[in-house]
Amino acid sequence: MRIGVIAIQGDVAEHVEALKRALDERGQIADVVTIKHKGIVSKCDALVLPGGESTTLGKLLIREGIADEIQDMNNAGKPIMGTCAGLILLAKQGDEQVAKTHQHLLGLMDMQVNRNAFGRQRDSFETELELPFLSSPYNAVFIRAPAILDSGKDVTILARFDDMVVAAEQGNLLALAFHPELTLDTRVHQYFLNKLF
Ligand code: GLN
Repeated sequence: MRIGVIAIQGDVAEHVEALKRALDERGQIADVVTIKHKGIVSKCDALVLPGGESTTLGKLLIREGIADEIQDMNNAGKPIMGTCAGLILLAKQGDEQVAKTHQHLLGLMDMQVNRNAFGRQRDSFETELELPFLSSPYNAVFIRAPAILDSGKDVTILARFDDMVVAAEQGNLLALAFHPELTLDTRVHQYFLNKLF
């Protein structure tokens, strides 16, 4: 098994570490590889799109020819997790800011996102979230986080904060507005790995 982490920009090393910790904890073996160029995504069994800056990430994914490979991976039903900026990229539809800047989204998941849903007042914060697949609350770190405004019938809402949807899934796709790679709790990465193993 091989798990790819898009390494164009953002919190890449933290995701690699979190995946390795999660694999260790479950006693399973997989290669975790970072991806900067085309030709690797197609060799991966699962993929992580990290947080960062979604405009930059989107542009570079297209320029490097990786965006099309991610589409193919999704068509093949392989697990893909997008966190924060990664969630934005997964969406089919953006907000006004996305439209104004002609920002490119991968458009894999049937949802509309608000890029900076929590505004300047709450740039970064941590909160306890209830996630349906966990038996106790999860401490989630939000940094200039997006939220899901609207979603189609195939999307399952997993968590809300402040009346906004901050986690959802659609089959092989997992979208999180927060950063599971920034805490030592591996339970969210474990949930993602459950889609692979
Ligand atoms: N708000 C950022 C964006 O629009 C995402 C922030 C993050 O990934 N921490 O790209």
